[in-house]
Amino acid sequence: MIAEVIVDVAAHPIDRPFDYAIPPHLQVLVEPGMRVKVPFGPRKVLGFITAIKETSEFDPARLKPIHELMDVVPVLNDELLEMAKWMKIQTVCFEIDALQVMIPSALRAKYEKRFVLNAPLEDIAEPLRVYFEKRPFVRSQDAVEVYDLLKKELDRGTIVADTDISQQTAVKKVRMIHIADSLEKLESIEIRSNAKQQVKLMEYMKNHAGKAIESSRLQKEAGVSLPTIYGLVEKGAATINNEESYRDPMLEATIEQKQSLKLTEAQQTAFDAIERSLNTPKTFLLHGITGSGKTEIYLQTIDQVLKEGKEAIMLVPEISLTPQMTLRFKERFGDLVAVLHSGLSAGEKYDEWRKIQRAEVKVVVGARSAIFAPFQNLGLIILDEEHESSYKQDDSPRYHARDVAIWRSEQHNCPVILGSATPSLESYARAQKGVYELLVLEKRAKNQPLPDVQIIDMREELRNGNRSMFSIPLAEAIRKRLERKEQVVLFLNKRGYSSFVLCRDCGTVMQCPNCDISLTYHRSSELMKCHYCGYDEPVPHICPECESEHIRFFGTGTQKVEEELAKLVPEARVLRMDVDTTRNKGAHEKILSAFGDGKADILLGTQMIAKGLDFPNITLVGVLSADTTLHLPDFRAAEKTYQLLTQVSGRAGRDILPGEVYVQSYTPEHYAITLAKDQLYEPFYDQEMAMRRASGYPPYYYVVNIQFTHEDLMTVAGYADQSVRYLQSELSASTIIIGPSASLIARVNNRYRYQCLIKYKKEPKLADVLQQLIKIYRSEWLKKGATLSIDMNPTSVM
Ligand code: ADP
Ligand code: ZN
Ligand code: ZN
Repeated sequence: MIAEVIVDVAAHPIDRPFDYAIPPHLQVLVEPGMRVKVPFGPRKVLGFITAIKETSEFDPARLKPIHELMDVVPVLNDELLEMAKWMKIQTVCFEIDALQVMIPSALRAKYEKRFVLNAPLEDIAEPLRVYFEKRPFVRSQDAVEVYDLLKKELDRGTIVADTDISQQTAVKKVRMIHIADSLEKLESIEIRSNAKQQVKLMEYMKNHAGKAIESSRLQKEAGVSLPTIYGLVEKGAATINNEESYRDPMLEATIEQKQSLKLTEAQQTAFDAIERSLNTPKTFLLHGITGSGKTEIYLQTIDQVLKEGKEAIMLVPEISLTPQMTLRFKERFGDLVAVLHSGLSAGEKYDEWRKIQRAEVKVVVGARSAIFAPFQNLGLIILDEEHESSYKQDDSPRYHARDVAIWRSEQHNCPVILGSATPSLESYARAQKGVYELLVLEKRAKNQPLPDVQIIDMREELRNGNRSMFSIPLAEAIRKRLERKEQVVLFLNKRGYSSFVLCRDCGTVMQCPNCDISLTYHRSSELMKCHYCGYDEPVPHICPECESEHIRFFGTGTQKVEEELAKLVPEARVLRMDVDTTRNKGAHEKILSAFGDGKADILLGTQMIAKGLDFPNITLVGVLSADTTLHLPDFRAAEKTYQLLTQVSGRAGRDILPGEVYVQSYTPEHYAITLAKDQLYEPFYDQEMAMRRASGYPPYYYVVNIQFTHEDLMTVAGYADQSVRYLQSELSASTIIIGPSASLIARVNNRYRYQCLIKYKKEPKLADVLQQLIKIYRSEWLKKGATLSIDMNPTSVM
């Protein structure tokens, strides 16, 4: 027997399966999807078995044997192995990267495999018993001679495979007390009447005959000590067993089960459409304003899927994976839910993953990578806030969870629901074309009105002599809230590292003459640059439009705002939430709950506060500068601005108190701002589509971003240039290639960065041409210290 193995060779990725001989003692156990150690050159490396076959095109006698089997049950199933091949082509990544991203990080660490006894010793085959006499487990490499017998027991479930990862991630064990199930037996046990503790425990045991209980809990509930429990165990009233327990990230919260709400008419219509298609690989776009009841539809459709005996994946952006959100799922589905988020330790994640793999849970709620949940019988996949760019991984494999979801839906014949208040243009365009089915919720579920949004012209403020970051109306509104003891959220619409130059008199932002994109200010070179076409010009000292000298470079930080705020309202208690204050695990939740408990009047933060904030006492939301996202050198700038404004507006007036929103802007007439005011998505969509069509960006064109790096500027520019010429000669005439040009951050870690952009409508040769480019890179440039990365359908091209 021969195994095809994809090896993990990081330095010089060798992107094809290699054949290895399977040694006789491993033949009973090996299956595709298991990891192995194999000799590769002078080293032993990790690899994944992707297939098992009888013959090889190479001389079988010369094939090297697998050195060691790392798993005794596969970590990846056939579907995921297949998916890796698809991802390799779709995202132009190495297959090994795709395989690695699908397994929990704990499994990427050092660990030991072992077989654990899962039944009385007498129940397993006689020759095996000696292995388990002393300890209830045997290390995988100590049992090589009996793999065939072990395999049979594995199939019977009398022995299970286990991973001893490391101290911190090791499977947590608890001491379980199994109380004898026969009352007769319990009553027959003699206890001296002066052994008060034992009498007390026996009383408890009689009331709980046949039950298993963790010893620490038993001590608490029965009010006895551990020696007392041992005393009765010795008398035969119970047995002790050390058992695996899953670390429950929500253990503290006692969760009350909740029933479904009665759907509104609009919700019912959407629900019915999805229910009719539960066994069809169909994609729905659920477009509903914030608070319109999308989550309730998710919960009820999932419920339906569970009733059919199938499983569901619910993806949410990491940032909205708040305890509140998780709670809603736990309330509805109890223990059937696994939650995967970045706040979990590697061990906790591994536990959740194993619950999925063993089909002990039916629903997984998680961020991007939860799309790889190894369910075998998927009935539904949901992406909430489908427009979020965090669904796209920004290093290899650069996959988009939406694409993976749709691919899986085809394998499982099940629907996908994409939900959003502000769908991505790509998705909405697909819904318009009938590729996705559009479902709409126009009103809020509880019929609360949308908050009242005021747009404040900051140019006007300046003309009136106000140079601060706070306009007069916003400052007034803040003071009013402080008097009324209501809460304020201030939002500094700051993204990325980019900065732009803006005229504070006329609102002009410096634009590239060749592209409809703003120029970026480069402090080091004192140049304004275009990141699309490479155009540059010196930083102006007066506005090119109105000749005003009030030119300013943007990029204000939250700290600076905090200082100004202290001057404006010294009595206010302010909480700041940004990357600096949320670096530690749990800090995010701590700040939010402090705010929720009324420990501050004002919450000041970056876009991370736009989501998940759901407190009844917030009656004012202020957006300090709507322009910051608007003028990013990115074709999605308007779309992102619209999405953010809609999202933050949704934070005010969610309960009884009505909400007000103030949006400050130097370009208040921009359609992304005026249309976000009343959440007019369709007019926004129409206008933005017209812009995209005119400038040749998605969804009219597909985009590929290719990035090059090297320590030497001339070298990287040379490779980039060579690549562009190669692409131009190979791709069709209608395809547009932009660049090469220096990347926005032109140097990182002393490496210079260049990029080029391919824009195409139809390009059947693209995959081949890119593979060819990769070949040139690997065979020539890589050795000279260059890197090349390809991003298909990038979420941004900055
Ligand atoms: P979305 O996910 O679109 O933001 P949610 O599902 O969170 O909306 O619903 C917003 C609020 O309305 C929640 O408090 C929810 O409990 C409530 N809600 C949703 N559907 C109903 C319904 N059918 N009846 C009553 N309340 C509902
Ligand atoms: Zn001007
Ligand atoms: Zn340009």
